[in-house]
Amino acid sequence: MLKRYSRQVILSNIGEEGQKKLLKSKAVIVGCGALGTVAANNLARAGVGHITIIDRDFVELSNLQRQMLFEESDVGEPKALAAENRLKSINSEIKVEGVVSDLNHTNVEEILEGADIVLDATDNVQTRMLVNDYCVQKEIPWIYTGAIGTSGMIMTIVPEGPCLRCLYPHIPKAGSLPTCDTMGVLNTATVIMGSMESTEAIKILLDSGVRSSEVNAQDNDDKDGEMVVYDAWNNSIDHIVVKRSENCKCCAEAEFEFLEAEDKEIITSLCGRNAVQITPARPKNLSLLDVASQLEKLGEVKASSFLVLFKTESYEISIFRDARAIIKGTNDGNVAKSLYARYIGT
Ligand SMILES: [Zn+2]
Repeated sequence: MLKRYSRQVILSNIGEEGQKKLLKSKAVIVGCGALGTVAANNLARAGVGHITIIDRDFVELSNLQRQMLFEESDVGEPKALAAENRLKSINSEIKVEGVVSDLNHTNVEEILEGADIVLDATDNVQTRMLVNDYCVQKEIPWIYTGAIGTSGMIMTIVPEGPCLRCLYPHIPKAGSLPTCDTMGVLNTATVIMGSMESTEAIKILLDSGVRSSEVNAQDNDDKDGEMVVYDAWNNSIDHIVVKRSENCKCCAEAEFEFLEAEDKEIITSLCGRNAVQITPARPKNLSLLDVASQLEKLGEVKASSFLVLFKTESYEISIFRDARAIIKGTNDGNVAKSLYARYIGT
């Protein structure tokens, strides 16, 4: 049974015991874009026994430059399902679960529960802070990773060490940071960052306790964390020691504000894409057939078993089974809200 993993079983870092451990582990990957596809591919091939991957979006042609699990025939499919199918064909001996949804405070418990490790592969601060709150509260290790332009950063967050909120006590406003859509990204940078993240995940699952020389330096505390910043173009790598903050809202004061968000719809501007996502306060189970036949009278409709794509005026509205919608053609939350109310209802 371990034959397919023979080349990593002979590594002294893994061995037969380590491989068995990986096969019994569960990893949840939040986001199935450039980083998520690389990490999922690595972990599936390495034999991590249970992989859940969650993503809210569908594959677009401009994703193929860096999202390594997808090919042209996947364009238009939900990323999480296209990834699930590809991963199952790569390794049929592990359990792979694709979840077409947006991770938020209403479903975080259900999706991250039971994870031995959580890998961040999202593109926004809000979701990262939500993952941080949940993982700190439940004492689950997780890995913060981001990439943009030609560089990326990574920090492994473990229960006894500093958390993401120690690093960023003030949350940047949504839309105030550059994104891959506005600034561009080099595919080798995302592949390298996704691979660093997979390596960290495997080390944690094996409980190997390996730390970098920077953190082991004399004047640093055992509990210190480390952020690694890598630039693929300059070939530079920097290690920055991160201290635990004594007045961190999350890990010191146990105020989990991202888990306790209000029970109302969530409006997210997908910046750089001229689109807004609306997630209802509680997921519903829509009949996409009914939705499609209603909308056919009002504009152009394309329906699949996962989503209804509706074009009207200058807008393109994708409606998912859980009643979430992505409205292309506006950056204005109020415009999106009124389109949602008009075509999908409240
Ligand atoms: Zn903290």
